[in-house]
Amino acid sequence: MSDRPSVPFVDLSVQHRSIEAELTKAMTGVMDRSQFILGAEVEAFEREFAAYCGASHCIGVGNGTDALFLALKACGIGPGDEVITASHSFVSTGLTISWTGATPVFVEVDPATYTLDPAAVAKGITAKTRAIVPVHLYGQCADMDPILALARERKLLVIEDAAQAHGSTYGKKKAGSIGDVACFSFYPSKNLGAVGDAGAVVTSNADLAAKLQMLHNYGQAKRYHHVSVGYNSRLDELQAAVLRVKLRHLDKWNAMRVRVAKRYIKSLDGRFVKPETANGRNHIYHLFVIRSGQRDALQAHFAKDGIQTQVHYPVPIHQQAVFRELAHRDGALAFTEKAATEVLSLPMFPTISDEQVARVLDSANRFGR
Ligand SMILES: *Cc1c(COP(=O)(O)O)cnc(C)c1O
Repeated sequence: MSDRPSVPFVDLSVQHRSIEAELTKAMTGVMDRSQFILGAEVEAFEREFAAYCGASHCIGVGNGTDALFLALKACGIGPGDEVITASHSFVSTGLTISWTGATPVFVEVDPATYTLDPAAVAKGITAKTRAIVPVHLYGQCADMDPILALARERKLLVIEDAAQAHGSTYGKKKAGSIGDVACFSFYPSKNLGAVGDAGAVVTSNADLAAKLQMLHNYGQAKRYHHVSVGYNSRLDELQAAVLRVKLRHLDKWNAMRVRVAKRYIKSLDGRFVKPETANGRNHIYHLFVIRSGQRDALQAHFAKDGIQTQVHYPVPIHQQAVFRELAHRDGALAFTEKAATEVLSLPMFPTISDEQVARVLDSANRFGR
């Protein structure tokens, strides 16, 4: 067995080679103009990405975590407030709520889609609740209609964590245009990825957009006139130029992921719990996640066959050491805690070859036989 996995979990190099000329031209253009911060590429990308999502405004920021934090701040979330979100997610969803001084309230997800269970959200609402952060996990939107109905009834804001859902749909709407405001990450391996850290906040609320414009750029109303305790978290020109090129390919790449997922779903053994797509939603398979009661042995078996897999995520946010002061009981979120021991993400990227998919399937179906 060689050191290099024969089926990597993600390989972005093939994808980048396929658009090398476009990328080089875009990046060289940035050097030529030498306007590196808040230039024409950022402005164009913000316009194009807002349009792609079906929203009116996009504010490019430094990364997806900052997008969440700045969206929460723009919504006025702070000390004394509670924000309901999923524990079965990447840690940023919880961290950013704490950054504002508010308290994250972690509730259960639906076992079929791994996204917020609206009934659990309803139970989590108290007099202190100010917002709900549904996470469109793995590439499928959360069940937004009942969540939005709860929010309207209780006057709460809805902040989408769309970091894994670029181009994912809920009914006729795209992720990013469903709640009050939505947060994207362009971490390199996301469905739309930069060549470094990058993120964006998308909204159709002009008031929130104006607040975000200030917050992400030193709290400036105009240059050198500072009216709020702002931050420096901006999408840079080079990343914006790359993202503009890649945005033109996003739908095609998402379709390639779906094709791979269909092959996996068709041929994987019934012993594994396979991803499900809820009615009225689609799945763009940022991650292709199965479940097995023998997850660790299965992951070791794949590794022996040269197949790289990952676990998203091994420790639920409510059980992370950093959130220990919230004093959740073990078993408080039974499905979330079980899922953390069972989920396994298989290799998934648009340019994975038919031969690589076949090797994953062959290895999976030989497990324990
Ligand atoms: C990637 C991710 C983030 C954080 O994005 P960064 O750009 O890495 O800061 C937040 N939430 C979810 C669900 C993510 O997958």
